[in-house]
Amino acid sequence: MSVSAALRLEEPSLEPHPVETIPGSVESGILILCDHASNAVPPDLGDLGLPESEFQRHIAYDIGAAAVTRSLARRLGAPAILTRFSRLIIDPNRGRDDPTLVMRLSDGAVVPGNARLDEAEVQQRIARFYDPYDHAISDAIHKAMAAGHPPVVVTVHSFTPVWRGWPRPWHVGILWDADDRFAKPLLEGLQAEDGLVVGDNEPYDGALAGDTIDRHATVRGLANALIEIRQDLIASDEGAEDWAERFARLLEPLASRPELRAPRIFGTRTRDRLRQHGGASQ
Ligand SMILES: [Zn+2]
Repeated sequence: MSVSAALRLEEPSLEPHPVETIPGSVESGILILCDHASNAVPPDLGDLGLPESEFQRHIAYDIGAAAVTRSLARRLGAPAILTRFSRLIIDPNRGRDDPTLVMRLSDGAVVPGNARLDEAEVQQRIARFYDPYDHAISDAIHKAMAAGHPPVVVTVHSFTPVWRGWPRPWHVGILWDADDRFAKPLLEGLQAEDGLVVGDNEPYDGALAGDTIDRHATVRGLANALIEIRQDLIASDEGAEDWAERFARLLEPLASRPELRAPRIFGTRTRDRLRQHGGASQ
């Protein structure tokens, strides 16, 4: 640990809490999560050896996702939980034992500040960033369930218009694993909108062992969906508001359906097959 890191740990009040929590009503029936909301890195971690330009790219965060999440929470009166740290520090949408938990290489960029992390340093990042986010989600779900309102869990992400030279055709994608209670009607709602190209488990497959949906929704039998919006569509405040309005309109009637509010275990496609996606996905 560097001297500055040691000083920082002795003065925790200097550091903002790694999680942003937006209060909302459990009666909304929805909990909104944003795993890749921020590109922030605390001063003691420096720049991770990367130029500033890398922090403006999707490898550091999901461009536009935080703005959609905040607007959606406001429109639905639903609670939301967002990260306040870059996925380049640690990726909360990965299991604790996932090899891409701390990225050494991301979409062509080596991350020098991560290249030689030892296990103890990875554990420090888990304790400092990953766990507070993970615990905030668990706390919100426990609170809602204790009040008799098991929530539908929705996570908001964004994806790049071009991946490895290939223009992606979708405007938006809904990712899901084995529980289609929420994803299917949401897909149908999006497909009924004018002019939208909608990905069903595109641009990624929603079955990813240990990701946020898996850890918090699948294991508890909570209905869920991972929303992926193409980042150029929500990079402006206006675009983010438009997409939040669209999702608020589609989500609100679904959240009141009784079959979506009763926990039911569907299992998962993840346990017995190889991962199909690595890199800066989801
Ligand atoms: Zn993401």
